[in-house]
Amino acid sequence: MIDTNCLFCKIISGDIPGTIVYRDEQTTAFRDINPVAPTHILIVPNRHIESVATLEEADEALMGHLFTVARGLAENEGINKRGYRLITNHGADGGQTVFHLHLHLIGGQRMKHPMG
Ligand code: 5GP
Ligand code: ZN
Repeated sequence: MIDTNCLFCKIISGDIPGTIVYRDEQTTAFRDINPVAPTHILIVPNRHIESVATLEEADEALMGHLFTVARGLAENEGINKRGYRLITNHGADGGQTVFHLHLHLIGGQRMKHPMG
């Protein structure tokens, strides 16, 4: 369940500090250490899943839950009306640097376009 070498597993377990803004049985959300916008929260499954590329069908409810948590956090942050961006990165081309699946909830400023 927990990968002892994984940074986000250590934040989830409390072994290293994080600014946790939400937690339930399935997910934890904490502020990104290097925010790119006024709101930048990472929403992660408590169970170690490397990325979207290793998801299984049994994880579909969990992934739906991550989005519902993101929606609630966006409301708490007051960015719901103006809008926000949700991102998950996979692998080198995707720019993934921490190999524990996470949604970036980014908002509080106008996002740049085009993506990519
Ligand atoms: P990725 O590039 O894998 O999609 O996103 C990883 C994110 O984790 C980056 O935005 C980075 O700033 C953040 N991050 C890296 N190390 C830490 C840390 O120790 N604590 C927190 N809260 N965020 C981190
Ligand atoms: Zn992990």
